[in-house]
Amino acid sequence: MKFRNFKTVPKMIFGRGSFDQLDDVLADERQKVGDFVVFLVDEVHKDKPLAERIPATDKDMVIWLDVTDEPKTTYVDALTAEVQTFAAENNNGRNPVSVVGLGGGSALDLGKAVALMLTNEGGSASYQGWDLIKNPAVHHVGIPTISGTGAEASRTTVLTGPDKKLGMNSDYTVYDQIIMDPDLIQGVPANQWFYTGMDCYIHNIEALNGTYINEFARAFGEKSLDLCSQVFLQDHPDSDEKLMMASYMGGQSIAYSQVGACHALSYGLSYVMGYHHGIGNCIAFDVLEDFYPEGVKVFREMMKKHNIVLPKGVTKDLSEADMDKMIRTASGLAPLWDNVYGPNWKEKVTPELLRSLYERM
Ligand code: NAD
Ligand code: ZN
Repeated sequence: MKFRNFKTVPKMIFGRGSFDQLDDVLADERQKVGDFVVFLVDEVHKDKPLAERIPATDKDMVIWLDVTDEPKTTYVDALTAEVQTFAAENNNGRNPVSVVGLGGGSALDLGKAVALMLTNEGGSASYQGWDLIKNPAVHHVGIPTISGTGAEASRTTVLTGPDKKLGMNSDYTVYDQIIMDPDLIQGVPANQWFYTGMDCYIHNIEALNGTYINEFARAFGEKSLDLCSQVFLQDHPDSDEKLMMASYMGGQSIAYSQVGACHALSYGLSYVMGYHHGIGNCIAFDVLEDFYPEGVKVFREMMKKHNIVLPKGVTKDLSEADMDKMIRTASGLAPLWDNVYGPNWKEKVTPELLRSLYERM
């Protein structure tokens, strides 16, 4: 039996207003003349009050991220090249002393990915997988501005590459520092708030109902689930704080367990049809009452409370080839199905089953 040796974020700051401590955090990294920091910031914050508070000096680089599509390997490589050109022109080719990712799961993943690619040659597509990264990343700081994915806590950065959607999973991927400031998630549009928040809720349901569950993962997953129900069913006044912690703890839970059927199906929707992670999960979860009866029941109460209406019939115009590709993507996620059914999952996860689920979405 081999146990997982679980790397966590070593430093974290939590609390309203804590974003302003980013300057102190970076001051510790700025040692020499010429040292510079790269800020990768979700474009949604451009020309907003938060942009004014970014502690960039005139030596630093601020890059506004286009997160219309979820992160692609080509985008990561282009951003990395942009930073390298800047370093060559301004700092004798020396890397930045820190990369800051500021935004949702997409921006957080781009922050991790660029920090890794600055020290690992050959392009991000060649590192999609488990423990392929060879060298430690540049120091990197993650600051969420929407909560749910757990990307602030996880050891992966999910990328869509030329032939697969798969993360760069490694201990080096994990942020060196995160700053969790609940002020930053205020004002997220209601639908997006719900979809991304449900990513966290679904992580917990899948982890807690999976065969991989253990007390470590359960401790985080149960608390995270409890926080989700306070946020999404009770309108708690401290909802922002609670959702932020739910996201982090959900991330910790799945790090030592695994997600399940919903994520497997959602990856298919995303890879073939381009659905974003949060909404794709919601569309998939809504047909999984046989897998997660209680979880789906409560999910529907949450949708009702927040007037969420999911798109329906999303796969009805899909070609046979695309449906097959989606089924292949979903059934290829062995660890997820192993978590759902145990080692005999291949007998259960038939193309017919997956097709029938996709057809109901
Ligand atoms: P996102 O980062 O794509 O952001 C969703 C939308 O919210 C975007 O339009 C963004 O601009 C906007 N937004 C962000 N902060 C805002 C704010 N404060 N105010 C207003 N709008 C704001 O969405 P997400 O759901 O956070 O992340 C999804 C991504 O995370 C996917 O690419 C998925 O693959 C990835 N993911 C990664 C992990 C991991 O462990 N690395 C886990 C789950 C999901
Ligand atoms: Zn997820």
